[in-house]
Amino acid sequence: MTTTLFEGGRVLTLDADGNDYQDGCVLVRDDRIDYVGPRDGLPAGPVDRTLDVGGKLVMPGLVNGHTHLSMVFGRTLGPEKRLMQWLDQQLPIIEAFDEEAMYVAQLLGCLENLKNGNTTLVENLVAPHPPGYTPEHAVLQAMRDAGVRATLAPGFLGRNFRPSYTESLDLQARRIIDLTHDWHGADNDRLRLATGPLLPWCMDEAMFRQTRALADDLGITLHMHGAETKEFHALIARHFGRDIRQVELLAETGCLGPDVQLAAVYDISPDEVRLLAESDTRVLLDPPTRLFWGTGFPPIHPFLEAGVTCGLATNGPAANCGQDLFESMKYACATAKTAKGDPDALDAARALRMATSEGALAIGREGQVGSLAPGLKADIITLDLHQPHLAPTLDVRAALVYSARGTDVRDVMVDGRLLIEDRRALFLDESALLEQAGRLARRCAREAGIALPG
Ligand SMILES: [Zn+2]
Repeated sequence: MTTTLFEGGRVLTLDADGNDYQDGCVLVRDDRIDYVGPRDGLPAGPVDRTLDVGGKLVMPGLVNGHTHLSMVFGRTLGPEKRLMQWLDQQLPIIEAFDEEAMYVAQLLGCLENLKNGNTTLVENLVAPHPPGYTPEHAVLQAMRDAGVRATLAPGFLGRNFRPSYTESLDLQARRIIDLTHDWHGADNDRLRLATGPLLPWCMDEAMFRQTRALADDLGITLHMHGAETKEFHALIARHFGRDIRQVELLAETGCLGPDVQLAAVYDISPDEVRLLAESDTRVLLDPPTRLFWGTGFPPIHPFLEAGVTCGLATNGPAANCGQDLFESMKYACATAKTAKGDPDALDAARALRMATSEGALAIGREGQVGSLAPGLKADIITLDLHQPHLAPTLDVRAALVYSARGTDVRDVMVDGRLLIEDRRALFLDESALLEQAGRLARRCAREAGIALPG
């Protein structure tokens, strides 16, 4: 048994009762939180390791509900392109990956998430399946080596997409069955699998129904994109041969429910919002990425008013050029206010919950992470509040949402294991990884035929 004590910080539990301790402690026993409260209430007993967090804020790790870490090598390439043209540039880069490139891209993505305080993430894998290696194995190995809490959702592409990325439903089913058998719940339930289509028009109705049956059989969640632009609905209508909205299609094929996560939603009608709310389908919002492509504001307030559970996400590191969930919180509030014309459309406390406890509920990790409470997993971050851009910290929740940045995170623990200490990664040589990633990214871009700016 190993015990670690976070001692003397300001502890923001983000639990249901809103407990906040000015001079608090968090005691971790193995992978779980044993005590959260004031310093003078700490149970007596020996402690293996004490971290002095005086002057810091201690809070639960953030939940990044949707990303594409394999796209990290395309960061900063094509930020002025429209979404579909941007994809046409990004996808050949991943086609040039070998196993080393996939592993390094994923490890870099995990490191970036951890250093931003994202202790949990959902990786919606975008990858072809070339002969020679299985991308998912490289992804899961990187997640294992990084120590992050992660769900891997390999994005299924059944038709109407680049040939190297598409595969038969049978192949996809066999792969997800094997992966789930080997990895789902691995590493003390840090690692999980999910399934679902990458894009809605790459499926037909039978594929949706069979994917739902597969998820039911395996006991895993469904993770997929929403209609990100109005163009998506035109593509759905063309490829399905009828004028049907995406959420109506999901309802028809049984792909709504509390185990379904719909990411990157933008173009959605009031009827679709009602269907999501009635079925308790979960939504993952990525406001910075919506703005990145200039496709419009995410309609956050209709979801909130309908009672939909909402998590927050960054989307992939090439899609908004970062993995900073503090940025997503701020943009969520700003875009909700602007879309509704009401500064109270989304308050800071709710945005914080969407990045923590509500985000955990959105991806099926409730009761495991998302707040600091005895019995929950020890996924904990600390932030340095003593900085000009956070002073004076009069309202800590508003400061976190509107003023803080991912780079304010100092220490990161996942599953009781300290991974980042004072912004230094303890599980790898960071500068060696950055050098390796730069070299591999240049090679992949070159093979993809992309002329890099000087
Ligand atoms: Zn996405």
